[in-house]
Amino acid sequence: MSSKAPPSQTTVPTPAPSARSLPAAEYDFFKVVQGYLDQAAKVINLAPHVATILSQPKNEIIVNFPVKMDNGEVRLFKGYRVQHNNLLGPFKGGIRYAAMVTLDEVKALATMMTWKGSLMGLPYGGGKGGIKFDPRSVSPGELQRITRRFTHALGENIGPEYDIPAPDMGTNSQTMAWMMDTYSNMVGSNQKQSVKGVVTGKPVASGGTLGRTKATGQGMVHCLTEWAKDRGFSLEGSTMIVQGFGNVGSHFGVLLSKLGVSTIAVGDHSGYLYNPEGFNAHKLQDYVAQHGSIGGYPGGKSISREEFWAMKCDICAPSALENQIGASEAQAIQAKVIVEGANGPTTPEGERVLLERGVDILPDVLANSGGVTVSYYEWVQNKRSESWSLEEVDERLEKAMKRVYRDVDNFSRQHKVDRRIASYALALQRIESVYKEREIFP
Ligand code: NAD
Repeated sequence: MSSKAPPSQTTVPTPAPSARSLPAAEYDFFKVVQGYLDQAAKVINLAPHVATILSQPKNEIIVNFPVKMDNGEVRLFKGYRVQHNNLLGPFKGGIRYAAMVTLDEVKALATMMTWKGSLMGLPYGGGKGGIKFDPRSVSPGELQRITRRFTHALGENIGPEYDIPAPDMGTNSQTMAWMMDTYSNMVGSNQKQSVKGVVTGKPVASGGTLGRTKATGQGMVHCLTEWAKDRGFSLEGSTMIVQGFGNVGSHFGVLLSKLGVSTIAVGDHSGYLYNPEGFNAHKLQDYVAQHGSIGGYPGGKSISREEFWAMKCDICAPSALENQIGASEAQAIQAKVIVEGANGPTTPEGERVLLERGVDILPDVLANSGGVTVSYYEWVQNKRSESWSLEEVDERLEKAMKRVYRDVDNFSRQHKVDRRIASYALALQRIESVYKEREIFP
């Protein structure tokens, strides 16, 4: 998330983006994720009792908490933490701040975290949280009080060995520093040092790890590099469009620019921009950090959302939010490959159209799992009171992403299923084997 945007200094007006591909009310994200679970369960003949257990989250926590705003008014906020499964390890997953946060959305995201942890071979289960409000609509002081009060309201529902939040849309390392500080003030003074691992994605000086901020984008790069290698496709000189230029999208753009990929169109909540020469990804990233959005960036021509999706390019990286590529966007897309930085950006209908048209998809649970993987490295460093070098973090992540990419690709070819179902199936197999060994209590 970026800081609150100052009053507009627009040199190029950007239109407000039109709505998602389906009206939000008609899009049931949790049902979509359940649908993929059912499909993957059939492929691996998943034990029915395991499918039953995984079909719903273990815990769904809703907290309503008051916060004193700058004008003295007391506002009530609604926060969620959904804990989907903790068979493999503590619940793990981000905290989202957005006006459209709902329980169903958080349930879907928490469920996907269970698959990501399992797929990547991490000792983590899945969780996700959020607060329903627009973080751009409050002051920095209000943002801090909302975060601290939410952490307090969650109380013992989170903890370094129980449930470990991280940044997601609308939150960042600063949010995590506030959460960690609040939590450490809720435990006894003799425990303060041992609870740093209650959140990951912290600033490095506060116990974070080098390489976490870019980790999700970096993981996407490793997946894309493997995809390109298999196809003899040269990334150097290729073009890309990116929706969402926050943490995930901007780091993906910056890292790919070093490999010679030119970002020719970008979009975010403020609108869409086109530059046939390619944006300077570093400069655009800095601009967004300063201004809160791409709105008003001087180096691009304003285009519509429809023009954005229809742009001729090689790579398309939806890195904003779910339900963005429906059937009509999928028909329009010109890219050879979709790299899902966001969770759930492609609807099942959109996916069907893309696959029929021969567009490859590197699915969210695989492509964006570099974030949770480096979060795990941070947690391990916190436990051991260690600080790893950036090279060590990068090397481990590269090995992990490339290994899992190969596993998914092999499974996909062997079982003749797409990569999303292959990723789900591999994740489910690991969870199933543990349920079979441990059996059901009592
Ligand atoms: P962020 O808050 O840093 O950035 C979000 C971006 O989405 C911003 O550019 C914002 O303007 C844009 N956006 C919001 N609403 C939009 C709309 N209606 N139309 C177009 N663009 C819109 O968040 P982030 O951390 O980069 O997360 C982006 C996505 O990546 C989310 O789906 C998140 O769940 C997923 N993800 C994040 C991480 C992580 O480590 N941060 C890890 C895995 C997956």
